Amino acid sequence: MSTVQPDACIFCRIVAGAIPATVVASNAHALAFRDLHPQAPVHVLVVPRRHVASLATADDAAELGELLALAAEVARQEGIADAGYRVVTNIGADGGQTVGHLHLHVLGGRAMDWPPG
Ligand code: AMP
Repeated sequence: MSTVQPDACIFCRIVAGAIPATVVASNAHALAFRDLHPQAPVHVLVVPRRHVASLATADDAAELGELLALAAEVARQEGIADAGYRVVTNIGADGGQTVGHLHLHVLGGRAMDWPPG
């Protein structure tokens, strides 16, 4: 699934600059911006620039690599790389996904619990 959906998808609209977000980093394939409802002192979302519904339908290994690389860059930039942090992607209903555009949550600045809820 890779069709651009600038009107229907909120993260496509953020990538297009049509709605505001606090962008903290980017590369050719991905954009990183702060989550609107942070669940940790650092909570940044890393999304592909093109529309991909979730990891379940992702079909470009290079693009996925760019997402992970940008997540690690965000962690360094936010000063949480040494203490540790978590990168999560929720998939579908049981995974708790609420926005249907692939995104990595970069969470840090506090100790994380395991297992997740
Ligand atoms: P998920 O539940 O894994 O699909 O995560 C979706 C995340 O997107 C949630 O943490 C929301 O707080 C976040 N979110 C939704 N709309 C926006 C927005 N306009 N800007 C930034 N984050 C958003």
